[in-house]
Amino acid sequence: MNIELLLIMKNPIKFYSTNQNAELLSFREALLKGLAPDKGLYMPEWIPQVSAGEIRSFAEKPYYEIAYEVTRKFLAGEIPDDDLMWVVKDAYDYDVPLEPVFEKKYVMRLDCGPTASFKDFAARMMGRLMQYYIEQENRDLLILTATSGDTGSAIANAFYGLDNIKVVVLFPEKEVTPRQRKQMTTLGKNVRVISVTGKFDDCQVLVKEAFTDPGLSYLNLSSANSINIGRLVPQIVYYFYAFAKLRTGNDDDDVIFSVPSGNFGDMMGGMLAMRMGLPVKRFISAVNENDEFPVYLSGGEYKKTEPSKNCISSAMNVGHPSNLARLVALYGGIMDEKGNISRQADLKLMQKEIYSVSINDNQTRQTIKDAWQRYNLLLEPHGAVGWAGLQSFLKEEGDKYPPDQLYVSLETAHPAKFPEEINRILGIQPDLPPSLEGIEDKEEMFDHIENDYGRFKEYLVENYK
Ligand SMILES: *Cc1c(COP(=O)(O)O)cnc(C)c1O
Repeated sequence: MNIELLLIMKNPIKFYSTNQNAELLSFREALLKGLAPDKGLYMPEWIPQVSAGEIRSFAEKPYYEIAYEVTRKFLAGEIPDDDLMWVVKDAYDYDVPLEPVFEKKYVMRLDCGPTASFKDFAARMMGRLMQYYIEQENRDLLILTATSGDTGSAIANAFYGLDNIKVVVLFPEKEVTPRQRKQMTTLGKNVRVISVTGKFDDCQVLVKEAFTDPGLSYLNLSSANSINIGRLVPQIVYYFYAFAKLRTGNDDDDVIFSVPSGNFGDMMGGMLAMRMGLPVKRFISAVNENDEFPVYLSGGEYKKTEPSKNCISSAMNVGHPSNLARLVALYGGIMDEKGNISRQADLKLMQKEIYSVSINDNQTRQTIKDAWQRYNLLLEPHGAVGWAGLQSFLKEEGDKYPPDQLYVSLETAHPAKFPEEINRILGIQPDLPPSLEGIEDKEEMFDHIENDYGRFKEYLVENYK
């Protein structure tokens, strides 16, 4: 038995709060808690390593087995191996296409899950893990989640029909597409959906306030937002998968990823993959007009975008990304939930590892058009921001890397979720994936509240006694 394994068995990884004012928890505890009591986000105390040999072995493995190997590094000692294998096999029963575009540039389509966005990767595994632990403890849970469009449906779908877990989804009334809304509001059963007069950031504030309200502690609240460590861990996996499947096989292979970012949960998955040993040369973090991160990266000054800007990549309309607290922590800094930095991160290292750029709506539309005309590559607005970020990087820094450098840009939603925009730009109707068929005819059910915490609390108390 090797030393690392011994260490893991003796010592399962504990999770600390980025605000550094809460006790260390096990994975199970951090998963069920969501947000730490000091309003920080949970992060692993140490980062397990994946060896070069293990990464090579992934080349032959199906997605769910890579998910098993990678997530087991964090979960060993917290769930028996057989049960973990069941969780990943059941969660990842769909394709993860790697579409060649030109030279060694690829688009990874993370849109083949049941709700057609990359949020399925996290939601399906987190849902199954929560259900597993809750059943063992014989108790129930109320999941509160704010959505900018895709989290709500992925979470609702992942928990739909369970007896002991109920779900409340808040969405900004004017900022999700009709099709995104219908994916949540046509479910019913244990899923309640509320439209809020306000923006995604407002929904997120309501949810965070409820968590720290002692008057609601009887509800056993938990979070399914990307503040939950249970969403972060599954998002590490597809970075390993893409590299393992696309590399040439040389020892010095490496990869550059472009990640369209909003709340930075997806990016954090990639960052952790790199810290675990994945040879990532650089990350491109592409944001829409909500450019607080590229501004911070260039000069170290952080300022929320308030109110957030409405862009066509609506799931990325985030003016204060909660996962920045984790990113800053990874670089040795401390950022609290409000965005105040009490210890600066190692910006030099961050700039070396991350390139970030803001892409406006015109550029996004132009990118959708160019990708379609030049490469027959069909992108929706979020994936187009990622692809545009890659083009910007190639123009500015591409000559520093060899012509056969491997690049992977993430496509985070299915184009059929944005039919109006795609049709306006390309004059075509994207084919519906099977998961979206029939949704137009179903009846919608949802409630509405003003952006007011008192009113939200009343709603919860009335509906969940
Ligand atoms: C949520 C979402 C994003 C942004 O992901 P983060 O983890 O919040 O950065 C990008 N694209 C789509 C389609 C999304 O639903």
